[in-house]
Amino acid sequence: MTASSPTTSQPSRSALSGLGPGTVLRGVPVVPGVAYAPVIRPGRLPSLDDEGAVDVAEADRPAETTRFTAATSAVATRLRDRAALATGAASEVLAATATLAQDRAWLGAAEKRITAGEPAVRAVIGAVEQFVDMFTQLGGLMAERVTDLQDIRDRVIAELKGLPEPGVPTPAVPSILCAEDLAPADTAGLDPALVVALATTLGGPTSHTAIIARQLGIPCVVAIEGLDAVAAATMVLVDGTAGTLTVAPDAAAAADAVTQAQRAAERAAAWTGPGATSDGHRVAVLANVQDGAAARAATATAAEGIGLFRTELCFLDRETEPGVGEQAEVYAEVLEAFTGHKVVIRTLDAGSDKPLKFAGHPEEANPALGVRGIRIAGPNPGLLDRQLEAIAAAGDRTGNPPWVMAPMIATVDEAEHFAAQVRSYGLTPGVMIEVPAAALLADRILEHVDFLSIGTNDLAQYTMAADRMSAELAALTDPWQPAVLALVAMAARAGAAAGKPVGVCGEAAADPLLACVLAGLGVTSLSAAAAAVQGVGAKLAQVSLQQCRDAADGALAAGTAADARVAASAVLG
Ligand code: PEP
Ligand code: MG
Repeated sequence: MTASSPTTSQPSRSALSGLGPGTVLRGVPVVPGVAYAPVIRPGRLPSLDDEGAVDVAEADRPAETTRFTAATSAVATRLRDRAALATGAASEVLAATATLAQDRAWLGAAEKRITAGEPAVRAVIGAVEQFVDMFTQLGGLMAERVTDLQDIRDRVIAELKGLPEPGVPTPAVPSILCAEDLAPADTAGLDPALVVALATTLGGPTSHTAIIARQLGIPCVVAIEGLDAVAAATMVLVDGTAGTLTVAPDAAAAADAVTQAQRAAERAAAWTGPGATSDGHRVAVLANVQDGAAARAATATAAEGIGLFRTELCFLDRETEPGVGEQAEVYAEVLEAFTGHKVVIRTLDAGSDKPLKFAGHPEEANPALGVRGIRIAGPNPGLLDRQLEAIAAAGDRTGNPPWVMAPMIATVDEAEHFAAQVRSYGLTPGVMIEVPAAALLADRILEHVDFLSIGTNDLAQYTMAADRMSAELAALTDPWQPAVLALVAMAARAGAAAGKPVGVCGEAAADPLLACVLAGLGVTSLSAAAAAVQGVGAKLAQVSLQQCRDAADGALAAGTAADARVAASAVLG
């Protein structure tokens, strides 16, 4: 990654990157929309070592103290500058962090260490550790300052080492975040008013960057070749529909592109549901969420319910398994947000790209093909039962009994066993179709469960034998791949024959055109990130069921993903 310093300076229209104005970089489009703004880049976290430094000679200690003081005031000044430019809560948080950066208590502890001969980096690490221990023991509000103090430590060490400031910077003006890739932790708390688009060098259409961008409702392009050469502060135009990033484009043309995209967004915003084609064929349009806050946010859309609640995302940072009571509270928040509506809760899909510390994942050469999804139930006796108990309790408390589905089902036996367990809690069982084996035997699986939900992200990964996280293989994991669509068609046919619902909850359902194709293949519901719900519903409302079926036939008959898309566009417009 080209980790350039985050900028608080005025953005420049000139390409600082060495790429000529108007250069168009291509990637994989994942969230539609257009944004025009300057680039910001996250800095790496500095390594927490003092490079084996020996103690500082007595004569040099005053200079080392001065170096330390200069570093802390540079960090504090930058934070204060940002606080002055930001508004509301963001401004308050930045100002408070700036104050902590100059807090006499920890500064004094670090200076004492330097005076005793420790190099500044080691002194910072030691002093912060001392206060982190103290704050942690005090608990409550003090413990909440631990993260802030560690953040300051990383910034000061980066400054001392002459490295760019770490983490995702809080920009002074709306900006486009460009990075190699983004972990969920990098993007927690991103403000979509300030980070208006995401662009990454790595990542596929189903990577976490894509999922996060959908949740934030901001345009996103991943797997962009050459993105590393685009420096911070360069003005760029990101087109999340075309999958392009234009370096230093003509300003008037860029502004026009943003306006056009806004008009399309307005049409989507005007859609009020429920999900149906123009001739009234009902296809429920639902939302994917990861917690109560996301569910409450989804109520602002015309989503008819929740088609996928990814419960594992609630507990990614937990060392130990949350108790049944705590889990029930978390699940109840989502159920409450959609009282009287369908909510599908997925049991913990831990493993591979979403490890849970308390699930005790074994070291595996190939975790995507290892103990993940429903397979964690075996080595964790009682884990699934406790989750089902919590889900049932949340259902009772809210008066909204959810449907419950298992991830990564591969065999009929697994489905049968899961269904029996779910029914024993009085809940409605279903399974996800993410493994080709399950799609192929969907008819037999449906003898045991009440519904299917197709996870096209993993179904594409396993059908195409291509890592969903790999940018290089993004064309293979494209859900438009006719082989993937053929498996979707098979599962949908099995559902129709059994008279049971078959939804799609993978990212494929977030692409308005593909959503129409899925409807044409016979799926009965589409569940996408809340930010995609309106666009999907609006597109579906514009086309007839026959158009969807014709588009599906065209896509199924295509030899490539690109041809499938072209065939569908020809019918659906
Ligand atoms: C999927 O695989 O399509 C899916 C919805 O599950 P996740 O993206 O959480 O693996
Ligand atoms: Mg999956």
